[in-house]
Amino acid sequence: MDTDVSYVIDPQPIPALPVRGVEGLFPVHRIYCVGRNYADHAIEMGHDPSREPPFFFQKNPDNLLLTGEFAYPDATKDVHYEIEMVVALAKGGRDIPVERALECVYGYGVGLDMTRRDLQGEMKKLGRPWEIGKAFEHSAPCSELVPASAIGHPTNAAVWLDVNGQRRQSGDVNQMIWKVPEMIAYLSGLFELRPGDLIMTGTPAGVGAVQRGDVMHGVVEGVGELTVRVV
Ligand code: MN
Repeated sequence: MDTDVSYVIDPQPIPALPVRGVEGLFPVHRIYCVGRNYADHAIEMGHDPSREPPFFFQKNPDNLLLTGEFAYPDATKDVHYEIEMVVALAKGGRDIPVERALECVYGYGVGLDMTRRDLQGEMKKLGRPWEIGKAFEHSAPCSELVPASAIGHPTNAAVWLDVNGQRRQSGDVNQMIWKVPEMIAYLSGLFELRPGDLIMTGTPAGVGAVQRGDVMHGVVEGVGELTVRVV
């Protein structure tokens, strides 16, 4: 980066995630999210879970939330949790072959794809973009990352979410319709992937609404956990 550059207004900080056991932060470039990647969730949302091509939307990097306190957002009465494994890329590229895709992965984390379901539903009905339902402030609570060099690449790992101590979502990353290497390869045919990109890999069944005061506790076994209170 050019250190001599001067800006006409102050630039915003680079969104970044802590890494377990490592000094320094992981700087986030983009956040890609896959839709309907677990068959039981596709069915609960009223869709056919057959293996149609994956589809993606994005959240903004500065939608990441690290404080553990999720402020109930504006303009909605129906905010839903979606627990997801997060993939963090150390390398990018275009047209990355499936068999080389895992070479791009820096590590993994646990994230929540918080969703204004009422607004998303209206946008679906009107055939409009999902952004107002998905890419709002603090819509991406995320855990620290853990390097793949420490844990490998999870292919069998239980994923669950409790709200106020009650199990709401339960699955396993082995139930993903599109596996991590396939998602990286597919995305790299649509976008130039970059170091710092995150991929939220989809959610198992059981999504639902939260209210102020609720505490969400999500786990991806062997990767990490995340506790977020709705305030
Ligand atoms: Mn999601």
